[in-house]
Amino acid sequence: MSRTLFVTTALPYANGLFHIGHIMEYIQADIWVRFQRMQGAEVNFVCADDAHGAAITIAADKEGITPQAFVAKIAASRAQYLDGFHIAFDNWHSTDGPENHQLAQEIYRDLRTAGLIETRSVEQFYDPEKRMFLADRFIKGECPNCHAKDQYGDNCEVCGAVYAPTALIEPYSALSGAKPELRSSDHFFFKLSDPRCEAYLQEWTTAPGHVQPEVQNKIREWLYKDAEGKGGLGDWDISRDAPYFGIEIPDAPGKYFYVWLDAPVGYLASLKNLLDRRGEDYAAYMARPGLEQVHFIGKDIITFHTLFWPAMLHFSGRKAPDAVYVHGHLTVNGEKMSKSRGTGIDPLRYLSLGLNPEHLRYYLAAKLSGRNEDIDFNSEDFAARVNSDLVGKYINIASRAAGFLSKRFGGQLAAPDAEGAALLQSLQAAAPAIAALYDGRDTSRALRDVMALADKVNEYVDQNKPWDLAKQQGMDERLQAVCSTCIQAFRLLTIYLKPVLPALAARVEAFLSIAPLQSADAAALLPAGHAIAPYQHLMQRVDPKLLEQLFDAPAPAALAAPAADAHVPGGEPIAATIGIDDFAKIDLRIARIVNCEEVEGSTKLLRLTLDVGEGRHRNVFSGIKSAYKPEDLVGKLTVVVANLAPRKMKFGVSEGMVLAASHADDKTDAGIYVLEPWEGAQPGMRVR
Ligand SMILES: [Zn+2]
Repeated sequence: MSRTLFVTTALPYANGLFHIGHIMEYIQADIWVRFQRMQGAEVNFVCADDAHGAAITIAADKEGITPQAFVAKIAASRAQYLDGFHIAFDNWHSTDGPENHQLAQEIYRDLRTAGLIETRSVEQFYDPEKRMFLADRFIKGECPNCHAKDQYGDNCEVCGAVYAPTALIEPYSALSGAKPELRSSDHFFFKLSDPRCEAYLQEWTTAPGHVQPEVQNKIREWLYKDAEGKGGLGDWDISRDAPYFGIEIPDAPGKYFYVWLDAPVGYLASLKNLLDRRGEDYAAYMARPGLEQVHFIGKDIITFHTLFWPAMLHFSGRKAPDAVYVHGHLTVNGEKMSKSRGTGIDPLRYLSLGLNPEHLRYYLAAKLSGRNEDIDFNSEDFAARVNSDLVGKYINIASRAAGFLSKRFGGQLAAPDAEGAALLQSLQAAAPAIAALYDGRDTSRALRDVMALADKVNEYVDQNKPWDLAKQQGMDERLQAVCSTCIQAFRLLTIYLKPVLPALAARVEAFLSIAPLQSADAAALLPAGHAIAPYQHLMQRVDPKLLEQLFDAPAPAALAAPAADAHVPGGEPIAATIGIDDFAKIDLRIARIVNCEEVEGSTKLLRLTLDVGEGRHRNVFSGIKSAYKPEDLVGKLTVVVANLAPRKMKFGVSEGMVLAASHADDKTDAGIYVLEPWEGAQPGMRVR
């Protein structure tokens, strides 16, 4: 019976672009999903942006836009990464979607009915300067568990501990730096300390297949009480006070779900959104017998996914996950990833340099074992493995044999000879073992086994020497049989590599003139007489120059704060080179400032009414209040970015951007200079 799988990766937090750690997880899950589909499984593979919480509000405020507009902008950046690395989600949604609001509130109501929600008045940190309760992300201090400094109020990023903000040592407000005061507020708790939860989670976490053994050991520390009856799970505070960007708690005005309550519900919401659009019934799908729900996550969010999430689902009467697969972190050239700098690899830079995305897929797959272990990207190892394995061992088989078949035999395959048939049989016999390794996410061993098979094929080529046979009289039949064996072997290896190298496999399928390969196709060979297309080069080696450039880029943190003695024009380095086509995308126009006024409630913005020669006026907000009085600007000409997407700001919609010069670090005083064209320019003229 074929499997029905609902597969997710962790939802990325929508306050920033993808880093290489996200891409690694998506590639791992994508390989697994592609493998299952080749086995005949029916899979829904979904993800979404995790849109809620205080950190999003902070990031949006910084840009002067609404959280919704901020999240939309981040969401729009996702496709180029996913498409670029051949990561094929069936749906990408947002936890701010209507499905998530509905599902999160339903789950909460069901938990309340089950008697697992409790309201308690709690002492909470209040910022006396900002006059508001502080969300966890607005409080920092020392981790009560490992004593790491500057940790957030909910979760330590160093040791992974989860705690109440009041447990922080020497807390301070991240907004004002003030020492926060304790005041009381009503909070909602999910009663994880209830004996029902404890019993259920002890059962769920130890049932075979749900979590890896090494993860079980980790969970044990949080879940079980010690000999003195201490420890064990505490109740989980699932509410936050307004102002908070999130989902409102039913029957509790001014209270919102803590972002970690509704984030995993986003898996279900993304699935529901997908099924709704296909006209399929969500409830019926979730009730399907044999449906397996599988989550891929990183080791930093184990508690949420193996304790809180299964309990939320089970006690709200829903299906619990069938497996949570945890991976370790990625280090780059031995260096640990830094939260502020990311790692040494920017995935978008990798793509834009023209490095092959399937090289990275192959390399990561060759390192990932399916266990919760850290792996390292080492650039020398990367180039060596891709060049020697993929190109030297695998691609080489086709390139050595195909030319003779096209030139001498019209591309037609002959039946293999006895030696060739035995070789092919040994390749076919490896299929179940390789499949089991893929299923267990041990792609490291799967690829090692596939490359061992490729070695056997190359030995066969070296022993039979088609290039010698081609020069000898009367050896045509043998030459065709040897080359045909190579092509058959190449096809079998392609089946085994296809989950990792989907784009390459598609080119191989075109070259072999065959339908898309499935796992079951390994049971049979191509028939004698089948004609292949002329060989076209299938894959280049790693270009060492490009690989070097990948690591040349200064880390973003270095950009923001150049060394004092560095010669950096205008206080910031020149941006990466672009082509004229990139520049042409920006439509700069001359605009007349018809009117200009202060914006009530804003210390930074002026509201400009612009004539861009369109027969209408535009409303544009500009952060130049510190440098200009409105009356100085009225009647002047300036330059505006006319095709910038309108931005919804707190004070209205801004339809463009006025150009102004400034030093990177000097935007607070009169160091801002609005651009003005020479006399004679007219509104609407394009600047090029
Ligand atoms: Zn810690």
